[in-house]
Amino acid sequence: MSFVKCKTCGNTIEEGLGLFRSYICNECLDKIANTNMKDTIYYEYYRAIIKRMWLDYIAEMEF
Ligand SMILES: [Zn+2]
Repeated sequence: MSFVKCKTCGNTIEEGLGLFRSYICNECLDKIANTNMKDTIYYEYYRAIIKRMWLDYIAEMEF
């Protein structure tokens, strides 16, 4: 069992559970889910992180 750090809050989380191998913890996923999508700074913040995670994810898949 290995652990990774949440990309948004830095919490140590178990690898292999959640979105993109737990690069983001459930707490942050809840925050994103509960964020009012209308022009919040949090939405822009999370969106940028998720975009970067997608790019990392896709890059890994190519190897
Ligand atoms: Zn987190």
